[in-house]
Amino acid sequence: PQDVADRPGARSLPAHLTDNAAGEVRFEHVTFGYRSNRIILLGVDLTVPAGHKLAIVGPTGAGKSTITRLLFRFYDVTDGRVLIDGTDIRDVTQESLRAAIGVVPQDTVLFNDTIRYNIAYGRPGAGEAEIEHAARLAQIHDFVMSLPDRYETRVGERGLKLSGGEKQRVAIARTILKNPRILILDEATSALDPESEALVNANLLRIGKGRTMVIVSHRLSSLTECDQILVMEKGKVQDCASHQVLLERCTVYRQLWAQQTRHMESQGPRHAAPAPALIQGD
Ligand code: ATP
Repeated sequence: PQDVADRPGARSLPAHLTDNAAGEVRFEHVTFGYRSNRIILLGVDLTVPAGHKLAIVGPTGAGKSTITRLLFRFYDVTDGRVLIDGTDIRDVTQESLRAAIGVVPQDTVLFNDTIRYNIAYGRPGAGEAEIEHAARLAQIHDFVMSLPDRYETRVGERGLKLSGGEKQRVAIARTILKNPRILILDEATSALDPESEALVNANLLRIGKGRTMVIVSHRLSSLTECDQILVMEKGKVQDCASHQVLLERCTVYRQLWAQQTRHMESQGPRHAAPAPALIQGD
């Protein structure tokens, strides 16, 4: 039995969402706890206009991933509403909601099947060329071609036979293939080396152009050009503004930024270079 069920008479999200238009995301006074005795999000308000990029930052456990899980409706809010283009997501079918949203999650789940199957899962029925194109954009094609069984290589139980970065790139290829209207990246490139990350980010940037994106990342330097950065702390929104404005007025953000700068400096010159920006200004 599912915890989250469709309402009787739930309709599909308006079709235009899958046709490259709109995609505004809004949280209205959202309060949520995984259990009734522990509140995780408290009165969260946020709006991502269609086609804009919102980054969510904050200390570990602040509730960043929880926001993305509520948008995908893995759970229902305890109070408040989550809206896409003004429609409460509880009023639409989960199938249509999840067709409109692509997620590259923190922990990628792969099926004990082939690499081809795992990428194609993003869009069942996709052709050979489309799968390879997605794999190239996710910087995994060359690696796959170097394996004896190429795309027929089996990944093992939950992707055991792949490294963290390889798994993450399979997940990115899967989401690129899905071609969703709204893209959620939850630490999507955290397991990649800086060079691969730069290439994958450049491709995600191309794919994300004109789409609504919600990006959770601890690597603040890759987020500075997002339209807005939402700063979360202990389940509450501390502030939401551009990088420059937050540096001037948000203490939590300034602390996160200072911590990261110190950390990069202590790692030496290779790490002191700014991380490749995920989102560049248009
Ligand atoms: P991180 O930066 O470490 O990924 P986060 O800001 O994304 O953290 P969340 O994953 O949203 O944090 O978790 C917020 C809080 O909710 C944490 O205290 C966590 O322990 C709790 N939590 C997360 N998932 C569950 C769950 N399935 N059941 C119960 N509590 C959970």
